[in-house]
Amino acid sequence: MKLSFRGAAGEVGRSCIMVENGRRKTLLDCGVKFEKEDAFPVLEDAEARKLDAVYLTHAHMDHSGYLPALYSAGYKGKVFSTKPTRDLTQVLLADYLRLDKGVPYKQDDVIKCLKHMEMLEYGEEKNGAAFRDAGHILGSATVTLKGAGGKTVLYTGDINLRESRLLDGAPTDGYKADALIIESTYGGHDDKRMPLKQASQYLANSIRETFKKKGKVIVPTFAIGRGQEILFTIDSHMRSGTLEQSPIYVDGMINKALRIYRHNAIYLRKEIQRRILTSDDDPFKSENYRIPERKDRSDVFEQEKAIIVTTSGMLNGGPVLTYLKKLAPHKQNKIILVGYQAKGTRGRDLLEGADELQIDRQRIPVNLEVDETKFSAHSDQRELLEFVACVKGLKRVFIVHGEKEKSEQLAEAIHRNHRHLRVDIPKLGEEFSI
Ligand SMILES: [Zn+2]
Ligand SMILES: [Zn+2]
Repeated sequence: MKLSFRGAAGEVGRSCIMVENGRRKTLLDCGVKFEKEDAFPVLEDAEARKLDAVYLTHAHMDHSGYLPALYSAGYKGKVFSTKPTRDLTQVLLADYLRLDKGVPYKQDDVIKCLKHMEMLEYGEEKNGAAFRDAGHILGSATVTLKGAGGKTVLYTGDINLRESRLLDGAPTDGYKADALIIESTYGGHDDKRMPLKQASQYLANSIRETFKKKGKVIVPTFAIGRGQEILFTIDSHMRSGTLEQSPIYVDGMINKALRIYRHNAIYLRKEIQRRILTSDDDPFKSENYRIPERKDRSDVFEQEKAIIVTTSGMLNGGPVLTYLKKLAPHKQNKIILVGYQAKGTRGRDLLEGADELQIDRQRIPVNLEVDETKFSAHSDQRELLEFVACVKGLKRVFIVHGEKEKSEQLAEAIHRNHRHLRVDIPKLGEEFSI
């Protein structure tokens, strides 16, 4: 088998791995990166046409955003994914096409791509490939590919071993593979996750402080994954009385994603399924949730207190910018960053103490408080090591989907624990035979 890394090599974004398996060519993920340069995977049109199959681990655009470009290049095969991944990808691709100016394909290609998506359940095998729950977002999966020569490759996609409010963690039993391709978003030595309960307390305290000052709280998040976790967390604090009731405005794609989560409730934790069935406790139907009614969001700004949960998580677009323009200049307000902030994004700038932001050619002074709590949907270093240890028969590991230092620190930690393993951090375009 031959592995070739076409993206997410020394970076977070544009995940794309080509696996040559005898004569069969397969792609694992095909995403974009939200940066002006190096936004797309390194893949020739002629290569795209020769693919036999594509496996998509989950709907996030850094894994799925480039899929339609395969069809504009003439690919006629299938994209395999779980059902929730298909549903969520549909919404995200439409949004990307609508909002982003640099999309490298047309609506027709998106339609073609969606028509060619085929569902695979967790545990179901097709052409030697199988998905298992990755615990990262609804429908997220790890992929195992069995090669012609009896070799097996396992790819984590984005993985979370820990149970969250909505999802079970990824299982760690029953894995067997010769090579593992593992993400490293939070693979650094200092990446130690706060227990969920503690993160949830922290969030409630932070909101309470701002309410005392009669300020508004913006919580920017990814539309899918953290958005739902954050909403459920805030709502459950309000239900239990640990946080006073106030409107929680849900803006942007999070609403659509919320509906898809509810439609695919069978993929959620058993406890959430039970609450949906005993309808007066349905966590998807809280009276605290509001949708902004006016285009300029003045109905939100008129509130004395409000929480706004909106996209995008790294502040590189979406309704959050409208809120920032209005709320950032005032010090009684607060923004709470809850997810990964990539280099070069406004989110990262805020964390690094920026005192103004450039939005739509306007300079917006930043006087609001900036707070951070990690509601990560990614495993930390300890959990990633736990995953490596659970894979039987492992001989080599490839580390992807992380900033250089994080990947290096994870490599070092793996090496320390498993001297016999060969560990590589592939460079863009690099090829390996296994
Ligand atoms: Zn992801
Ligand atoms: Zn990712």
